[in-house]
Amino acid sequence: MSEYDLKDKVALVTGGARGIGKQIAISLARCGAKVIINYRGSRSEAEQVAKEIVSGGGAAEAVQCDVSDYSRTEAMVAGILEKYGRVDILVNNAGVTRDDLVIKMNEDEFDKVIETNLKGTFNTIRHLYRNFMKLRAGKIINISSVSGILGNAGQANYAASKAGIIGLTKSVARELAGRNICVNAVAPGFIETDMTSALPGQTLEKARQMIPKERLGRPEEVAETVLFLASEKSDYITGQVICVDGGMCM
Ligand code: NDP
Repeated sequence: MSEYDLKDKVALVTGGARGIGKQIAISLARCGAKVIINYRGSRSEAEQVAKEIVSGGGAAEAVQCDVSDYSRTEAMVAGILEKYGRVDILVNNAGVTRDDLVIKMNEDEFDKVIETNLKGTFNTIRHLYRNFMKLRAGKIINISSVSGILGNAGQANYAASKAGIIGLTKSVARELAGRNICVNAVAPGFIETDMTSALPGQTLEKARQMIPKERLGRPEEVAETVLFLASEKSDYITGQVICVDGGMCM
């Protein structure tokens, strides 16, 4: 049995088919939560994660939706609320990169990253806002990035989206604190997923040199922090940004 008791909690994890989101979904389910695994294109991966959870005795299902689309996100949320009656834990993990120096970055690359990472986070929060108000309880955890704190050459779009997530997190935390809802952000550093394996070796080596712990992080290490923020053990923590970055941002 895990040290966190999330029995009967309903959790929605966006982008839960792969990488960090997959690990978050598996970890939440291990603690007893019923997990809705949102995906955009990775259907078979999402269904596989759900299958793995169910065969281990947990509860999970995969739900398709592009969270950058306001009305489709509304429809996804409506479907989830109809079936489960509530969402107790929302993890906004879906994210994309389109890296380039600003001089070469085109409008589509800028918009795509802002629409997925920042607006996608707004969209789920917006459509679950009344759900959380009614519950007078709940946890919203938004996945930001150290890029949103430090900035990063070649990632102006991504860093802006992740800094935006921090402002969104703190604002919603202030709006909902009186209703007993905690809203926090997790800012990972470099974590071993498809997102970082796509980076050139030279970039990764440079990154490693910036990390006091001298290694990349693992998705499990981000998921552990999300679990803590999803549990009642963090009930007095809201509006915070917790870096899981091997010391990069200290
Ligand atoms: P991956 O590239 O491995 O996975 C990204 C996930 O986001 C996929 O599951 C993808 O789903 C989903 N996604 C993308 N766009 C959408 C969309 N429009 N609607 C729904 N889902 C979407 O990334 P990571 O696991 O590495 O990253 C997860 C989060 O952590 C991201 O927000 C990222 O910015 C953040 N992060 C990652 C770091 C790292 O070093 N890896 C560092 C700091 C932050 P699908 O495959 O179905 O399209």
